[in-house]
Amino acid sequence: MTDPLIELRGVSKHFGATPRDLMHTARRALGVAEPDRTVRAVDRVDLAIARNEVVGLVGESGCGKSTLGRMVAGIMPPTAGEVRYKGQDVARLTADRARQAKLKVQMIFQDPYASLNPRMRVADIVGEAPRVHRLVPRAELEGYVDAQLRQAGLDPAFKRRYPHQFSGGQRQRVGIARALAVQPEFLVCDEAVAALDVSIQAQVLNLFMDLRSRLDLTYLFISHDLGVVEHLSDRVVIMYLGRIIETASTEDVFSRANHPYTQALLAEVPRITSGKRRFTAVKGEIPSPLDPPAGCHFHPRCPHAMPRCAEEAPALREIAPGHRSACHLNG
Ligand code: SF4
Repeated sequence: MTDPLIELRGVSKHFGATPRDLMHTARRALGVAEPDRTVRAVDRVDLAIARNEVVGLVGESGCGKSTLGRMVAGIMPPTAGEVRYKGQDVARLTADRARQAKLKVQMIFQDPYASLNPRMRVADIVGEAPRVHRLVPRAELEGYVDAQLRQAGLDPAFKRRYPHQFSGGQRQRVGIARALAVQPEFLVCDEAVAALDVSIQAQVLNLFMDLRSRLDLTYLFISHDLGVVEHLSDRVVIMYLGRIIETASTEDVFSRANHPYTQALLAEVPRITSGKRRFTAVKGEIPSPLDPPAGCHFHPRCPHAMPRCAEEAPALREIAPGHRSACHLNG
């Protein structure tokens, strides 16, 4: 890989759990030792993303993928480890460089309505950041906003409208125009099409791909659905309970998935289940990150679990060029 645009080195994010019950409060008052109530949302993750690469990050709800995305976007600092932008740890940048780096990595959310100020007109929503950060002269701002709306597939004639006057797909385009307005290099898309109708999903995914080639963008595309990332990702990363458990080119993941969890996720992609290969669908619920199973986190749900799996966490190892998997079945 060429020098990564974004790199995570040993990145973790832990959250302290809030006391919830009377027993907990009483035990604390008596000074009785409490079990560790730390949520390890992301646990020592290494990930490098090259310029112009599209990485699909996939896992069930609660696996830590959104937290990882927020750390990449600079919205949330890691508890441990480094987030590096163009080879530099963003935590050690000067305030000015950190601000520039943050602008270059933008995040697009699942629910654009929640992230758009309902009292602001679309022109102001899209124009706010370039105005505040003085990215364009004031006299050119209106034309600049029009250009961003056009890039996102919206007619600038509607720029005086408020977010509620748009459809869900159009609102997502407003969110995309707002992100593009700060001239980013990297977009973190967190379930960015999950709330849209299937036909609109395809249009927005096509827009992302079009923008990739026109603006030389790099993406971390987060989804719970492998099928959504298949057509736009160069590489797929699978997460389970805070850890990366498999990563490979999209082609390898879909034709030679190694990890039993990835195989189970693939069983939920309709195209695959209707074909020749059939996998066992993932059973049960993802365990609580407050109390993850010891050893391989997946062992309570894994059809191939062996005694070793409950004791020892498998390392993420290269099993073929560019293909890494964390499973004791690989020896
Ligand atoms: Fe299953 Fe064991 Fe592999 Fe984990 S390490 S995925 S439990 S076989």
